[in-house]
Amino acid sequence: MIVKREQSVTSSDPNIALASPRACLLGKPLEELRELVSTLGEPTYRASQIYHALYAERVRTIDEVSSLPADLRRRLGAVAHLFLPGVVRRHQSADGTVRYVLRLDGASRTNPTTVEAVFMPEEKRQTICISTQAGCAVNCQFCLTATLGLLRNLTAADILGQVMVALEDNRTALKPQTNVVLMGQGEPLLNYDAVMTALRILLDPKGLAISPKHVTLSTSGIIPGIEKLATETVRPKLAISLNASNDEQRNAIMPINRKYPLKDLLEACRTYPLRAWEHLTFEYVLLGGFNDHPEDARRVAKLISNLRAKVNLIPWNPGELPYHPPDAARVEVFRKILADKGHLVFVRYSRGQDVMAACGQLALLEAPELVRPQTL
Ligand code: SF4
Repeated sequence: MIVKREQSVTSSDPNIALASPRACLLGKPLEELRELVSTLGEPTYRASQIYHALYAERVRTIDEVSSLPADLRRRLGAVAHLFLPGVVRRHQSADGTVRYVLRLDGASRTNPTTVEAVFMPEEKRQTICISTQAGCAVNCQFCLTATLGLLRNLTAADILGQVMVALEDNRTALKPQTNVVLMGQGEPLLNYDAVMTALRILLDPKGLAISPKHVTLSTSGIIPGIEKLATETVRPKLAISLNASNDEQRNAIMPINRKYPLKDLLEACRTYPLRAWEHLTFEYVLLGGFNDHPEDARRVAKLISNLRAKVNLIPWNPGELPYHPPDAARVEVFRKILADKGHLVFVRYSRGQDVMAACGQLALLEAPELVRPQTL
């Protein structure tokens, strides 16, 4: 574990998010808010006012919904609450990245579920990496989250709450553009309904108003989920976590490949309806001596030929698992082979390595005692 310069802030109240019997407003789409206000005998336009306050203004309490009369705020507060995940710990990296450990709604002393989100500031934008499940059942062998197994699916409120906490915590330093990547804990397409409910609000110009060009969902290759996503009118960009150049290699590090092998996965990519401005992204974690050979690069180039795609090469970070970082010269050879074959290719060095905020490394700091209790 590498912790170079860490400023860790712990909440003064570790039970900040104790379970509440009232419905949570956060994560509710407009239709559900309409149903809620109608049970209070209110006209539907009140739902639009609440929706605007929740997502466009990002209020933190029902009392802050100033467009509602005080009496309605009181009655609303009797049947619903507005819960944002509580910051249990905040790890500040030397490069400006902040890793949040967040306590979810419904957490209790006996069920202290937390997830992690990462805020990465850049010169003209910020990127927020969020989780879609607590833990993960997909069991990728290079991923620390996998060692938790699946703890639970996150709700739409849990998913949106991570974005809102990160924006709120950095409110005074926000740049004009916000990117959101669903690349934290969990496989988004195995929690499809909650993820899509959250994304529709995130991408709604009347909601959080983040452009679909700036939101990326990353999957390990769940083909039915990719096919379902293809039918959505509102959807983020799609990234595929590839990480291997043939089935044998991918089976060894991503057991999900036995269920959804490369041939079928790439066929699903070929039929995926890209918008005019859109590329698929293939992420490829380079594990030194395992999948970083020149012949791997040539096979990857062949696999993705005829696809409008870009490749992100992610050199493995030294960490808890028995893999090695690739040699820098090998990374460059790999990149050049793909580029020479006409592919868009970038080398991405993970941000926040010193707070374990890199891909697949969110989890073990908080729950080191959990070892693969539930996998696919
Ligand atoms: S890399 Fe992603 S899909 Fe694979 S086990 Fe980790 S969190 Fe799950």
